[in-house]
Amino acid sequence: MNNTKQTSKDLMALENQYGAHNYHPLPVVLDRGEGVFVWDVDGKRYYDFLSAYSAVNQGHCHPKIIQTLMEQAQKLTLTSRAFYNSQLGRYEEFVTKYFGYENVLPMNTGAEAVETAIKLCRKWAYEKKGLPDNTAQIVVCENNFHGRTTTIVSFSVDPDAYNHYGPFTPGFIIIPYNDASTLEKVLDENSNIAGFLVEPIQGEAGAFVPDDGYLKKCYDLCRKHDVLFIADEVQTGIARTGKLLACDYEAIHPDILILGKALSGGTYPVSAILASRAIMEVFKPGQHGSTFGGNPLATAVSIAALEVIRDEELADNAFQLGEIFRSEMHKLCETSEVASFVRGKGLLNALIINNRSHQNLAWEICLTLAENGLLAKPTHTNIIRFAPPLVITETQLHECIDIIKSTLAGVE
Ligand SMILES: *Cc1c(COP(=O)(O)O)cnc(C)c1O
Repeated sequence: MNNTKQTSKDLMALENQYGAHNYHPLPVVLDRGEGVFVWDVDGKRYYDFLSAYSAVNQGHCHPKIIQTLMEQAQKLTLTSRAFYNSQLGRYEEFVTKYFGYENVLPMNTGAEAVETAIKLCRKWAYEKKGLPDNTAQIVVCENNFHGRTTTIVSFSVDPDAYNHYGPFTPGFIIIPYNDASTLEKVLDENSNIAGFLVEPIQGEAGAFVPDDGYLKKCYDLCRKHDVLFIADEVQTGIARTGKLLACDYEAIHPDILILGKALSGGTYPVSAILASRAIMEVFKPGQHGSTFGGNPLATAVSIAALEVIRDEELADNAFQLGEIFRSEMHKLCETSEVASFVRGKGLLNALIINNRSHQNLAWEICLTLAENGLLAKPTHTNIIRFAPPLVITETQLHECIDIIKSTLAGVE
């Protein structure tokens, strides 16, 4: 190994040469993080307005979470589920009480939790609802993002996500998002619907917030037709949108709740699904599992991560600072040629860029934001998502709003 200090350029070249090119990162090489900040290899400091797609809601390297991680790592990390371990039961009690469910099934990544929810929903449909085997349909929404497995990309409408990955898993009906009447029609016309899988706010689609009442209407329709309402809160959950869950805004309790990302505060892949015993009990020994799911390290870290959310009142902070952020961005959009409008909830927001005159404008704005000390990433060419760690203070937020304003002023 070459011990001379490697520059950003060297490190980017290494990724370029030896890694698969399945990402297109912004050209910054991060080396350290603390709270709302990350530092690159040259020591330049940035506000992190991506938060690893909302996995680091608690801030980078939160001392309480890291302390727990280190202590548990020195004690016991992995047993597999062939044996009981001293952490798992405690975690299962903690996490079910925290979110108000009877049972939990721990996995690792968000996509695995979504897969688990799909399997649970289908199995429930055959064993409890009484659908004939292999007929169950799950209704999903256009412009969804639920992960990258072969089954999940089978019901994506984004060609980048599904092209040349077929043959695809059947059994999904795609309907428009934010359209309860189409859901009603599909439920009326099909007797074999098992579930409705939905993001309460579409994160990857660019913080797309549905109309007030949409989720509640869908939830009530699911009740009426004995269909499971499955909420993917991998990105919206755990205080991001200003409540513990985005579904809390409409006071609905999903039949299956899918969590990931911030469930570990960004230290370790931890995901889970939660459901009632009556639903979860269709899984019997040997019928689903994961070597790492529910391991002692993951469960210890996850308890600490959820305690931080509660003890530091991060949902309230996200709610209040989100209001400030959007009202400042509204003002900006009124006078800006480049920024069209802002949308979002809590600290999951997106600024829509008018890129009619210049296709790559959002990407270039993000490059300039980075130069000015703020990291954000465009989604769908003309949308910039702004989602800082929820530990951000009001003073820091105003500093960031100033960076965004002056950056946009520079490209007007
Ligand atoms: C990120 C995300 C996933 C997938 O999580 P991974 O950990 O990347 O597999 C699923 N659903 C939503 C809504 C997400 O934002």
